[in-house]
Parts: sequence; C-alpha cells; structure tokens
Amino acid sequence: MALVNEHHLKLSDNYLFPNITKKVNAFKVTHPKAKVISLGIGDVTLPLPKAVCNAMHKAVDEMSNAETFRGYGPDQGYPFLIDAIIKHDYTPRGINLDAGEVFINDGAKSDTGNIGDILRHDNSVGIADPVYPVYIDSNVMAGRAGVLTGNKWSNIVYIPCTAENNFTPELPHRRIDILYLCFPNNPTGATLPKDELRMWVNYALANDVLILYDAAYERFIQDPDIPHSIYEIKGARKVAIEFRSFSKTAGFTGVRCGYTVVPKDLNGFSLTGEKVSLNKLWSRRQNTKFNGTSYITQRGAEAIYTPEGAQQIKESIDYYMTNARILKKGLTECGMNVFGGDNAPYLWMQTPKKMPSWKFFDQLLYETAIVGTPGVGFGPGGEGYFRFTAFGSRECADEALERLKKWF
Ligand SMILES: *Cc1c(COP(=O)(O)O)cnc(C)c1O
Repeated sequence: MALVNEHHLKLSDNYLFPNITKKVNAFKVTHPKAKVISLGIGDVTLPLPKAVCNAMHKAVDEMSNAETFRGYGPDQGYPFLIDAIIKHDYTPRGINLDAGEVFINDGAKSDTGNIGDILRHDNSVGIADPVYPVYIDSNVMAGRAGVLTGNKWSNIVYIPCTAENNFTPELPHRRIDILYLCFPNNPTGATLPKDELRMWVNYALANDVLILYDAAYERFIQDPDIPHSIYEIKGARKVAIEFRSFSKTAGFTGVRCGYTVVPKDLNGFSLTGEKVSLNKLWSRRQNTKFNGTSYITQRGAEAIYTPEGAQQIKESIDYYMTNARILKKGLTECGMNVFGGDNAPYLWMQTPKKMPSWKFFDQLLYETAIVGTPGVGFGPGGEGYFRFTAFGSRECADEALERLKKWF
C-alpha cells in the first residue's frame, strides 16, 4: 500500500487559474456571441524575438550534425550563457559573481518551488502578502506551512502589503527563518526602493534570515533608482538567493529558461549550529534531480544578450508597458484606485466599494465580458483587490477600456 504525502491533501484543488477558466467557459456557453477580452492570466503574447529564433535555428542545425551534436550539458548550464548573464545582468551593477554561483534552470517556478528541498520542514516562513501562489503552496506540500485556519496557514507569517503601506512589507513581529520577497511584485506591481531593500538585508543579517528574492520582473523597472538585484545591497550575498526568469522578459513562457543565483558565502545551519554552504547543497540537489535545460534553449537565451536581442526584448517590454500606462490612465479616469503598472506589467485595482474579489470577477465577466484575476487568489491580503495584466494586445487594452468606461 503506497501511502501518499498527506501534506498534498491539505491543498485545495481550486487552483486560481483553472477556476477562472471554468467560470469563463461557463460564461461562453451561455453567451456564445460575447467577445471575451482576457486581462487575466500572466502570460506574454508577443512572439519570441528574432535574435532568439535565429540562435535556436542555428542550434538545431548543430544538433543535426555528428560533429557539433551535444548530449547532456554541464550541470549548472553552459558557460556561454552563465558568462553572458554575469557580464550583462550583474557586472554593470557593480555585482561580482563567479560562474559557480549561477544555476541555469527551466524557469523560475521550478526553483522557487524546489528550493525548499534543501531547507528543514520546521523553519518558519515569512511571506509578503499578496504574492505569487507558488511560495505558499510549495511550503504546504513540504509540510512547512502548518494547518490552515480560516484563510491562513499557522506556520506562515503573513506580512501584509496593502494600499496603507504602499504595498511594501514592514518588519514582522514574529521570528522568521525564511522570507520570500518578490519585487517588482506579482500581483501588486509594487517595487521596493533601495533603502527598504537595505532594511530587509540588514534585518536578515542581524537575525540569520534567508531571503528568497524573486526578481522575475526586474526588466520591467523603468525608474533608474529602483534596484534590479538584491545583490546591489551590501551584505546581501550572505543572506539571499535570487531567482530570475526569461519568461516575461523575453517571451520564454513556453520555451522555459531562467536562472538562480546562490552565492558561495551564503550559509544555512545544521541543528547543531554549524554553517552549511547552500551553494553546495543546491548544487548537489540539482545534480540529483535536474538534468539541465536544452542546449537549443540556452542558445536562445544567450541571444537576448546580443545587441539585437537586447533591442528586441526592450521593444516588447516597451509595448507591454505602454499597455500598462494606457490601462492605468483609463481606469483612473473611471474613478478607480489603481496601483502598480509603472515598473511592472500588472495593475492592482481596489474593487469598487471594497466588493469581494470573486464577486467583482463575476460582475465584470457577466456585464463587460472582461476577464481579470481576483486579488484574493494571491493571498488573504489581496481580498478587495483585482489584477489586470498588460500582456495583451494594444487593441484588447483599448477595447477593454471602452467597455469599462461605459460600465463604470
Ligand atoms: C511568471 C513568474 C515566475 C516564473 O515563471 P517561469 O515561467 O517558471 O520562469 C516566477 N515568479 C513570478 C512572481 C512570476 O510571476
């Protein structure tokens, strides 16, 4: 008899996006003529940059020839990609990394979920709420979240990010061992100014807290004063792991590639208090459970660091950020309270009259045929909010606004 991991049974099956899909499908059946506009799921819509496609075509040709064919690649990723990452993403910001600190992966979801493998089950976990649901769910699966009481897990310290604190977390009153931060934030679109990020790094240094920093949206930052990497803060190498992804920045949601930085001076602790290198643990974990991202994909990712590739991804990001600007301006003109959208592809709106998020979702769908994401799907702190994404086409953004202006 195979006993299951009962922690999985604690998760509800109503994962946010399947639930939205179900509701939208039901609407389409009863309203076959309605043209549904989706400003919901966080997926890109523009095609891959030309430079990436060319590099991948070339890599396919290499794979079709015995002399240039490649099998298993190096454990942490090909040096050509790791070097390009360090040279373009870190060195210009005054951050020194060595090649052994960068781990190429198949996207940030895998590593933000899997990182828990190298951490004990009874650490207490702090989460800036609301946020990307993977952090909480992966901790539930590991048995680290405790029990669900009401809408909160007993072992998770929720650090509320609301309009009152400008969607930036304040230091918690309870001890935490691990802290998840995601900036620019999904779903609020908020960013963390340098002095606030410094406050968190200093707090982590003083209290032996491990920070898991998700910077999947760093390329969307427009304001030159906002840090792109946590390692821009002195001392962060001793306390933080950073996750990055090519998904939103270069259209890689279907191609799958990202990377994780685990500095060599970052330590965890054994029960007897000895320091343990997290870089070594992660390396060992990956060697056992992960066999790398394909050569073709890594060649594609490398191409975004060429001058043409960099220009092409900038054009796509500018396109999405123009959508964000148009949507934010329009919604604000409708009298809505809208946040985010300046340094992230997400708009975070207070629902009218603090209506519950799901109720607003249904009303919006049935009265305008527009799909967004209920804020509460990102954690209890998201109740009373609603997320719109800027990842659609300009035409969709324009038409959505027209409908919303009439509706409000
Ligand atoms: C989309 C997203 C990711 C990553 O996705 P991958 O496609 O797995 O790289 C990671 N973190 C956040 C906050 C995201 O929104």
